[in-house]
Amino acid sequence: MPSIVQERPKVSAYEIATANFQRAADVVGLDDQWRTLIRRPFREMKVEVPLHMEDGTLRTFTGYRIQHNGARGPFKGGIRFSPLVDADEVRALAEMMTYKTALVNVPFGGGKGGINVDPRELTTKELEQLTRRYISRIHLILGPNRDVPAPDLGSNAQVMAWIVDQYGRQHGHSPAVVTGKPLALGGSPGREAATGRGVMICALEGAKDLGMEIKDLRVAVQGFGNVGMWAAKLLNEQGAKVVAVSDVSGGLFNGDGLDIEDICTYKDAQDHHTIEGYSAPGAERVSHADFMGVDCNVLIPAAIESAINEDNVDSVKAKLIVEGANLPVTPEADRRLNERGVLVLPDLLANAGGVTVSYFEWSQNFQQYRWEEDDVNSRLETIMLRAYRAVRDRAQHYNVTMREGAFVVAVERVVEVEKLRGKL
Ligand code: NAD
Repeated sequence: MPSIVQERPKVSAYEIATANFQRAADVVGLDDQWRTLIRRPFREMKVEVPLHMEDGTLRTFTGYRIQHNGARGPFKGGIRFSPLVDADEVRALAEMMTYKTALVNVPFGGGKGGINVDPRELTTKELEQLTRRYISRIHLILGPNRDVPAPDLGSNAQVMAWIVDQYGRQHGHSPAVVTGKPLALGGSPGREAATGRGVMICALEGAKDLGMEIKDLRVAVQGFGNVGMWAAKLLNEQGAKVVAVSDVSGGLFNGDGLDIEDICTYKDAQDHHTIEGYSAPGAERVSHADFMGVDCNVLIPAAIESAINEDNVDSVKAKLIVEGANLPVTPEADRRLNERGVLVLPDLLANAGGVTVSYFEWSQNFQQYRWEEDDVNSRLETIMLRAYRAVRDRAQHYNVTMREGAFVVAVERVVEVEKLRGKL
């Protein structure tokens, strides 16, 4: 089970989402009525989920599914199992999904779900029971054409497999009800690496725009989980030097470049599935507090929210920041980075590779036909590059940041479809 972040971020997801939306809405001149219509969620569901623990006790967990906007297609977004899950967080992340799916122009809206639980405290049997009971309480609002969840922090492909099974008991076999499934149950080739691949594609485009050559890239990646590990691996394969990586156990730095394959092999062999205890000639340990200031020119926060904040932003040496995680830069840190001319590629764009391949998975489930991995990867690249260029064009047109450009593209698309539907 992936590691869970215990600390509450410095600035809430909702505050960051609000600040980002309002800036874009100002740029496009959206009036207050439209701001309200776009921002307010379509539907919020809160459920209490009782669970008989294996030690004989009975516990009750709170779960959510928030459907933010479905104008462009079924709601889409992960299910998070974390002790930090609350309505505000789920609402903000659901809203981000509305803009992300619009930005990469896949036919989905935005949603998010979660249960306030630390899955590390549960046995596998308890986690399965919790997942099934949560789904049995929210299944009526899910469906391949209604709302399509995916894995998020603390959940994974196995959890998606239980959801397919549980949902199928009431609705018949419907693998398209979730994405991020195991390959054997209708998952897509290339899904596991997709978010990291999208991060890699954006990093290379951003570097090109800054006139940096791949061989001169010195990359630092915070978070060595699904997103960070694949981003590090793929950038390394492209010829960039990965000089620093970190995970929940701390960081590693080698100015001559870390051996990423060796670190992956080490991590996979450990019971704790972290880089704790890894050693190699030239690799030094770096503390969490010092990580953002390591000597690099590309920084990829791919772990937690608010990772780059008022306390550490002035130590950042990178010229390019690629947001692998959701909401990893606080608005104040973002402002200071922009002032210093650092190019920040926002989460909406940079980590949209996952939802893009989720769309491919959903399409394959409807077609009942599996695509080849090369096909998935090349279509992903086409969509990511198209989105990158759309954002850059909008940012140049309005003379705003890439973040504002991304929100502008997304908000314009959602508003256009809302108007076409003729609700007003
Ligand atoms: P994961 O659980 O696989 O990995 C998270 C990594 O972050 C782990 O290596 C963990 O040890 C590390 N970490 C936790 N706290 C840390 C800290 N304080 N400092 C450094 N490292 C720390 O999760 P993931 O799927 O890679 O997701 C990471 C982020 O990317 C989240 O914000 C998630 O919402 C976002 N995201 C993921 C996907 C996806 O497809 N997996 C898609 C879009 C966005």
